[in-house]
Amino acid sequence: MRIALTTFVSLSFVVLASGCPRELPSLPFAAGSDVYVIQGWNGTQTHQDHMYYALDFAGTVGTHILAASDGTVVFTYNECSEGEPFCNNDWGNAVVINHGYGEWTNYAHLESVAPNIAVGMQVCRGQFIGTLGNTGGSSSPHLHFQMQDSGEVSGNSIAFDGFEECDIPEAGDTVTSQNKEITSCD
Ligand SMILES: [Zn+2]
Repeated sequence: MRIALTTFVSLSFVVLASGCPRELPSLPFAAGSDVYVIQGWNGTQTHQDHMYYALDFAGTVGTHILAASDGTVVFTYNECSEGEPFCNNDWGNAVVINHGYGEWTNYAHLESVAPNIAVGMQVCRGQFIGTLGNTGGSSSPHLHFQMQDSGEVSGNSIAFDGFEECDIPEAGDTVTSQNKEITSCD
């Protein structure tokens, strides 16, 4: 019994020591930003099926979008111009980040991807990854944000437990970000 317990404790230590504890994402906007939610989960406009668990945040074009959590960039697309129909299958310019734990975040309809962001690079929570835009299938400037189950831009959205700042907001809510903007992990 003593041996079994010791083994268990050792394994637990290894697991804890091998990575950061899982943490909730932060809202992907600079601290102090009040952001209006246009469409929430199960939104009647477009948030159905594979986009059921997506959130649309209104904003002005050029607003800085920040990584919600630490991770690795696995997808970027930066070839869309505003008003170009079906660009990147309507996702527009976009960034996808792998956070581990089977969770990726997708930031879509960007004006542009931040200049230093590229596939394979490590990013940290709060890192500037792009600017809010109106590219792809977007009828007004906003960020389409979703947690999803793969690194494909068209991955299936998945439920998560909310943000550091708040529970999952609903359409019509205004939420205030506390995500501290940084330009690199250093
Ligand atoms: Zn959306």
